[in-house]
Amino acid sequence: MSDMLINGEFTQGHAVESIPVIDPATEEELGEVPRGGGEDAEDAVRAALDAFAEWRTTPAWERATLLHEVANKIEANFDDLAVLLTQEEGKPLPENEEELDWTLNTFHYYAELARHDQGRFIPPGDPGQINFVIKEPYGVVACILPWNYPLLLMAWKVAPALAAGNTVVIKPSELTPLSTLRLAELAFDGLPPGVVNIVTGYGREVGEPLVRHPDVRVIAFTGSVKTGQHIASIAAPMMKKLHLELGGKDPMVIGPDMRAEMDTAVRALAYAALLNAGQVCTSTERVYVHESMYGPFSEELASFVGDLRLGNGLDEDTDIGPMIDGRFREKVEAHIRDAVDRGARILVGGRRPHRFERGYFFEPTVLVNADHSMLIMREETFGPTIPIMPYRDFDEAIRLCNDSQYGLGASLMSHDARLVKRFFENVKAGTIWINDPLTDNYAGPFGGMKMTGGGRELGQEGFDEFREVKHVHWDIEGGLKDYWYPY
Ligand code: NAD
Repeated sequence: MSDMLINGEFTQGHAVESIPVIDPATEEELGEVPRGGGEDAEDAVRAALDAFAEWRTTPAWERATLLHEVANKIEANFDDLAVLLTQEEGKPLPENEEELDWTLNTFHYYAELARHDQGRFIPPGDPGQINFVIKEPYGVVACILPWNYPLLLMAWKVAPALAAGNTVVIKPSELTPLSTLRLAELAFDGLPPGVVNIVTGYGREVGEPLVRHPDVRVIAFTGSVKTGQHIASIAAPMMKKLHLELGGKDPMVIGPDMRAEMDTAVRALAYAALLNAGQVCTSTERVYVHESMYGPFSEELASFVGDLRLGNGLDEDTDIGPMIDGRFREKVEAHIRDAVDRGARILVGGRRPHRFERGYFFEPTVLVNADHSMLIMREETFGPTIPIMPYRDFDEAIRLCNDSQYGLGASLMSHDARLVKRFFENVKAGTIWINDPLTDNYAGPFGGMKMTGGGRELGQEGFDEFREVKHVHWDIEGGLKDYWYPY
């Protein structure tokens, strides 16, 4: 059994039961982790709070050195971690290598940012005074994580939180805790005890006690809207800082000019929609194609998607791995059934492949005649589906993009600068991708608008989410003021 990490020790804590971790490609057990509970959350928060006293005053350059070391150790164990991540999460090995690359470079990036500034000096109201703004850590941060990018999303929270001088308690998803624990063993060992703690278990049992704990000042959560709403309902009355990265329903618009470059648009879309079997929060989940090219584009897409190879993520010739779990696959099937009942037509895919006896595989699916009456165009599907709808003019395309409760990302394929400008000025989303969907940037903020929750990770913005602002007004001379009593 892999252990939790509390106060620098690997331990089973108070757990008497374990949770099995399943390889989604084989449905075999990969390992097990302790089924932690409230007492483990309490111990982890206590350790983090104790460690905070020293970590917050550790010089920024020293914290930076330690974070660079974390990154270097991840790099030294790159291949092992990539294989474990593939077994645990399912996506193909090259995608996990990319995840690890992002993970370690996020630690490097925030190590650099950490030593750069701690606030700003501002003009005083009077020459005898000094005014400045200090950006200081909050204290203990709970990092509650989903399963789809277990290490990357951990790094996007933990690296800036530590760089800013906070200490953390990580709660990985019960579906993918092994890679986080393994990374901790290999790469967090140089950090002072208690600076990083990891508790494992179910959300209600070990996650919620973290949310309720009065000494946890920040809840950094990535996951579904439903869980995010529940967490917010607990944390908001306690005036905790909420950092929420929730679901999405990202659109892609194919501009009319792409008729001349249909192959590029088809391949960009297939990547954006099917990466990690469509289980990316920024997966393209609905597509709008200009009516002048709707038919030929859909046919070419279906033909390309039909040739993609499903398989175990560890096999070299796999393009798309399994979904994470049976429940998620059933939701995809329900969305496809609803779409077909309402008039959509399946061009390719739409079912479980027969050739696998085990594993949560689902054939990548292209649907035409989609419209906004269908669940598949409105609710997060989180699977390998590409529903396509025609649009008449660009105003309609923008209106359809914005006809959603979510606002995470949005993509446009076009070389027409006038359309590009209209798109990024009018589509309500946290990231706009033009001609290169789903490419992030360490220095560029990532997060969403509307029901996606408003949190931002990466960049300066992702750093400031973990720093609290204090204004200091200092009258150096002191003495009586003419605006004091009596009037
Ligand atoms: P989830 O909401 O089911 O679980 C996320 C985490 O919350 C897990 O660790 C879970 O154990 C924990 N949890 C569950 N109930 C809890 C409770 N009552 N208190 C505290 N913690 C609790 O989400 P998931 O299925 O793991 O992840 C998929 C979702 O994550 C999708 O909706 C996806 O869009 C979203 N996501 C968003 C982003 C983003 O950046 N916006 C990135 C990746 C994934």
